[in-house]
Amino acid sequence: MRTIGHWIDGAATAGNSTRTQAVYNPATGEVQAEVVLASPSDVDDVVASAARAFTEWSEASLSVRSKALFAFRELVNRRAGDLATLITDEHGKILSDATGEVQRGLEVVEFACGIPQLLKGEYSDQVSGGVDLFSYRQPLGVVVGITPFNFPAMVPMWMFPIAIACGNAFVLKPSERDPSASILMAELWQEAGLPDGVFSVIQGDADTVNALLDHPDVQAVSFVGSTPIARQIHARATANGKRVQALGGAKNHSIILPDADVDFAAKHLVAAAFGSAGERCMAISAAVTVGGVADPLLERVAELAREIKVGPGRDATSEMGPVITAASKDRIVGLIGSSAAQGAVITVDGRDLSVTGHERGFFVGPTLIDRVSTDMDVYREEIFGPVLSTVRTDSVDEAISLINANPYGNGTAIFTSSGEAARRFHREVRVGMIGINVPIPVPMAYYSFGGWKDSLFGDRHIHGPEGVSFYTRAKVVTARWPEHREEHGASFSFPTAR
Ligand code: NAD
Repeated sequence: MRTIGHWIDGAATAGNSTRTQAVYNPATGEVQAEVVLASPSDVDDVVASAARAFTEWSEASLSVRSKALFAFRELVNRRAGDLATLITDEHGKILSDATGEVQRGLEVVEFACGIPQLLKGEYSDQVSGGVDLFSYRQPLGVVVGITPFNFPAMVPMWMFPIAIACGNAFVLKPSERDPSASILMAELWQEAGLPDGVFSVIQGDADTVNALLDHPDVQAVSFVGSTPIARQIHARATANGKRVQALGGAKNHSIILPDADVDFAAKHLVAAAFGSAGERCMAISAAVTVGGVADPLLERVAELAREIKVGPGRDATSEMGPVITAASKDRIVGLIGSSAAQGAVITVDGRDLSVTGHERGFFVGPTLIDRVSTDMDVYREEIFGPVLSTVRTDSVDEAISLINANPYGNGTAIFTSSGEAARRFHREVRVGMIGINVPIPVPMAYYSFGGWKDSLFGDRHIHGPEGVSFYTRAKVVTARWPEHREEHGASFSFPTAR
């Protein structure tokens, strides 16, 4: 059995823990490896190595840091296929989707290559007689990233390129369900010439995370995962005096107005709901129809959903792969069942899907549920599976109120041909990322990514300019080079400009 270990001080290591967890191939249902779960002393080792590395790396020039980022970018580009294959084998998503994930992560690396431009400070000449004022930003120290299973390369790459470019040492605690991509990325950093200890990987579970959150030498924590854990991480790490951004789960709604192009909306809804088996934090899981668009739209969505080819991610003809674990499959199947029991109508039912040759894989077929109401479990819970629920409304007002009443606020979209409706929608809706005829509005790397309400705890969004701000703190310097004249003398009154 292959063992997936940590990456500490520039080397692969199994650490000194005896605890392990199985890593499955979701397409076959078989255990393909085991990942070690760090002991408290492994956590101490990784943080100590990162703290040592920080001392030197934070002094490296902007040009040295930028060169390391450029080199890493070239290597990830060259090995994108290998990274994607590792992701497909452990996560289950189809290869083209895994390749897309690597590409979106690379865009953050490319953004971070411009760190000399991003870290420019401010300078004000002569704010008072003979006094100048300037500001600049310095790195924090050892920063930690705790990431979810659904994007094992992209979500870590939302964090570490910027953290490292800013001069920090970064410790990644990836998901224990698909940990291999993290180790390949560590090898590529080493090949790119990054000093040992600046990027480390510690494998583990809740105990490992808690040890990192309580460690006095960890300065900041970036977390991406489900809402209950995000809330918990934010509370514990802030109580320990750390800077925290904790991105949580989602329930993304898409409004379809009667003036929308029905075929266009249906195709995009189907791709956004069932792509990656619905295991995207920006997946559309609730379609909110307004007025008479419901019947023609749902008819077309059902037709398209039935045509989706479900199969193993490595098969180039597959359009949708399995879900992550058997437990996840059981949970999704249970929620679909509960919707019927609570009065909804299952139009396309993926519960009994079996993939020939992969009967033990964790497959759930695309599922479309109509006449869902907001009190049903299938609406209230984040399903994180290939399930699209439809809520029928009579007006735009009702549709917007429904979105605003939902505790999550990650992404949302509107399908319409009315500029007026679209403008009203993006101004009134209380959600962080909004698409206008774009169902998955994930911002480019040079903007920041983040939801509102229960989808983000903390005040900084991830990557882009807010990422640079999160991984640095500001200094403001007020400077005078005295000319020893009487009027520049010290005074006991509060300093004011002259
Ligand atoms: P998860 O919350 O179960 O796990 C995320 C990370 O937290 C993992 O590294 C895991 O080891 C760790 N963890 C799990 N339980 C813990 C505990 N009790 N204490 C401390 N750490 C713990 O999430 P997941 O199932 O891996 O990922 C899916 C979730 O992530 C979904 O809810 C999805 O919406 C969310 N997500 C959100 C975004 C976003 O940008 N907002 C992006 C991707 C995924």
